[in-house]
Amino acid sequence: ATPTAVTVGIGRGAELGILIKKGEILEASEKINKVLFDKTGTLTEGKPYITDIIPLKGDEKDIIQLAASIEANSRHPIAKAIVSKAKNIPLLKVHELKPIPGKGLIGSTNSQKILVGNISLFKDNKIPLDDIGDIISKLQEEGKTIVLVGKDQELLGIIAVSDKIKETSPKAIKAIEKMGLETAMVTGDNPITAKAVAEKLGIARVLSQVLPEDKVNIVSKMRENGTVAFVGDGINDAPALAAADVGIAIGSGTDVAIEAADIVLVKDDPIDVPAAIQLARKVVSRVK
Ligand code: ADP
Ligand code: MG
Repeated sequence: ATPTAVTVGIGRGAELGILIKKGEILEASEKINKVLFDKTGTLTEGKPYITDIIPLKGDEKDIIQLAASIEANSRHPIAKAIVSKAKNIPLLKVHELKPIPGKGLIGSTNSQKILVGNISLFKDNKIPLDDIGDIISKLQEEGKTIVLVGKDQELLGIIAVSDKIKETSPKAIKAIEKMGLETAMVTGDNPITAKAVAEKLGIARVLSQVLPEDKVNIVSKMRENGTVAFVGDGINDAPALAAADVGIAIGSGTDVAIEAADIVLVKDDPIDVPAAIQLARKVVSRVK
């Protein structure tokens, strides 16, 4: 691309709310053939809300009180959903809080061990989940994420949360595929929920139950045979954004993600991913 075309391209991007940090990134963007998306906060709103509370011991209030007392110490979007549900319930004092990345949290109240998190967390701690397999699968098939609440090696209840898909996400995926590029979604969520969400998005390839530190490995692996864009918003996404040929951050994302990215989408709109690639193609095709 000519220097003039690059300058014009960066200016045009800025007008569209597509902030391109340096000129070389337009050349890299023109070569992209794989676009990997983070799920939560990128293709979805990232604002989960509670859809179901299923107490197995005690009542709904007990489940929410315990879960919220633990989650009050977490900044995960799921934690916010649970804590806001407990607005009128006094929270319990929590000691020895331990966040388990990609799984949930463990803490204790009144010297009882409390676990709040996904199925892996409960399996790791050898808490039996007999009899609830069907309930869980049904919720997951609806695209919901399961949060289990346990006390002293016993499952007390199930909370399900849902996160709306951004309105333009399916359109963005379609547009990218129409341009001849591969798309994939990566998430820490479980395979069934991830697949249900992917179906709504029209995205064929899904990598689920990915631990935060593994996103970067997936990007490196994909780069072995292609030019890879990674689109994300979270602290977890920063290493993958930096490792990708083109890192694209959602504007309302975390500061570290924005810093690690090459392109920032000011409008938080996934449709600006194909728009950015289109822009790069235009710039590079200009000979003078
Ligand atoms: P994602 O951003 O895709 O949700 P994370 O790595 O943050 O990925 O989390 C993966 C999974 O771990 C979540 O889907 C959830 O099941 C569980 N999890 C993580 N943190 C929490 C938390 N604070 N409370 C409940 N569950 C959690
Ligand atoms: Mg995210």
